[in-house]
Amino acid sequence: MLDPTTILPKSQRWQCQRCGNCCKWPGDVRVTDAEVREIAAFVGMDEDKFLEKYVRLRTDRKGLSLIEKDNHECIFLDGNNCLINEVKPNQCRGFPNKWNFLGWRDHCEAVAMSNESNEKAPHPSD
Ligand code: SF4
Ligand code: SF4
Repeated sequence: MLDPTTILPKSQRWQCQRCGNCCKWPGDVRVTDAEVREIAAFVGMDEDKFLEKYVRLRTDRKGLSLIEKDNHECIFLDGNNCLINEVKPNQCRGFPNKWNFLGWRDHCEAVAMSNESNEKAPHPSD
């Protein structure tokens, strides 16, 4: 997954279509220490063993990332489903409504919400 680079304006929200593309492109899936603890508990693993098996340094070496498969998919992607959806990292939760990147619409199938539903739906950063 590409790193968060751009904060979106609050004026438009997008509805995920669960295509799974954002779990398939190369890049870091950032995890905090607290997220590591939560995910390790969710999959029933000791935290140290989880770190050893599923976590690496981020490419900028300033934090941690989940590892990826040989084809660059996230290690926790199964088909188009996230195996840790209930406890997935904030980076995953935030795309595309909290952050995006140049050209993201070419890779993401999220649908723009109408003005009416857009006004009713709280922005994730609220
Ligand atoms: S943790 Fe889940 S949502 Fe995040 S990149 Fe991996 S499979 Fe996708
Ligand atoms: S790429 Fe977009 S539509 Fe596809 S799963 Fe990710 S957020 Fe949802």
